Formats: sequence, C-alpha cells, structure tokens
Amino acid sequence: MKPNEILLNTTDNEISLVDLIGDEHISTSIETPLRDDAFALSDAEKIERIEKHFREIMLTLGLDLTDDSLRGTPRRVAKMYVKEIFSGLNPANKPSIALFENKYKYSEMLVEKDITFYSNCEHHFVPIMGKAHVAYISNGSVIGLSKINRIVHYFAKRPQVQERLTVQIAEELKKVLGTEDVAVVIDAVHLCVSSRGVEDINSRTVTSHFSGAFGEEGRKKEFFTYLGLQG
Ligand code: ZN
Repeated sequence: MKPNEILLNTTDNEISLVDLIGDEHISTSIETPLRDDAFALSDAEKIERIEKHFREIMLTLGLDLTDDSLRGTPRRVAKMYVKEIFSGLNPANKPSIALFENKYKYSEMLVEKDITFYSNCEHHFVPIMGKAHVAYISNGSVIGLSKINRIVHYFAKRPQVQERLTVQIAEELKKVLGTEDVAVVIDAVHLCVSSRGVEDINSRTVTSHFSGAFGEEGRKKEFFTYLGLQG
C-alpha cells in the first residue's frame, strides 16, 4: 500500500472475517499494527486531517454542524485522539524511566495493584476501562512506583485489545527492569460488549501474563493473594 492509501475494496469474505475478528476481539499481533509512515505527519497535521474526517462522519449521520453545541466537536475529537486517548501510539510520548538501586535488598515481590486505566477497543473505538495489577521481583534495581502507572497509561492510550495491552506492559517492564520476573493481570470492562453487541453489563474480562519466577505456582498464588483473588 502507498502511504496514506486506504483499502476500501474488500470482498464479502474479507468483510465477514473482519466482522468476526472485531466482535470476538481477537488480536492479530503483540505489536500495535502501525504503518511505516505512522509519524510522517506532525500532530498538528493529524489533528487537521482527523477534524475534517470527523466532520464528514457527523454530517453523514445527519447532524447540523451549525449548531453551537456541535460546531467545535470535530476539532475537539481530533485533538483528544492525537493528544490524549491515542497519544500512546507515538514512541515520543513513552515515559522515561529512572531506576534506583535496590538498597534495601528487598528480594520479595513488589506489587502495584489497582492501577486504573482507560483505553479504547481497536475493533469498535469505544472505551475499555479497568484495573491493571503488576508485580515484579527486583534483580538489583527498582522502579519508581508512579512510573509503573505511567507505563500502563502509555500502552492504554492506543487502540487496543486487552491481551495485547497486558503483554505490552509486561514486555516493557521486563526490558526496563532487566528481569523476566514480571506478572501483569488486567481486569476490565469493554463498553463494546456492555453498551452494544450482546449488551452484557456484568461481564468483565481478565487477562494475565506471568513470566520468570511467576511461572511457579507458589509465586502466582502469592500474587493472587495480594490481589484478593483465589490462585
Ligand atoms: Zn470492541
């Protein structure tokens, strides 16, 4: 595909596969699928473009954009997409992480739980809201606690599927901390499931990633105990 070319011609088969993947929330890869030219445009250029397209969506829906309440919506949405809810697509916004020496020689697991995050489902572009619980065992360095929240928020601010979000957080922590001993559990509500589709208002989705020492049942159980869950 040429830069900025959008594939519009899908066959019936492709459409049904596309629909199926979307409603089952299947992800195709661990990496967020980004185009090679993802950052060829500046934020300002992206905002301008999205504003134009979003105006077109609203007009197509039949909304009257001369109404004072709606007039500014296309620009508001465009800014919100680029600068806020999808700002985690841009590696330039990745939080810089400082590590500290583990002076206390604390060798037990460190758990940061109930990290609230807001993301958006990449199949429907409606919110995913939930809590991330993270644990790691230091191999000599420790990370500022607020930095764990920042890593969670960075990856949440992308169009996402929950499994990918879970793995992306875990992989980043492993890289930053230089250890495989990392666990991530995410418990979330998907508005595309609760407000549309099957309209199940009570279901939650839990995903987890355990590596290194967290592969051991004892460690896993201990982590679940801290979370108030049965291992
Ligand atoms: Zn969805």
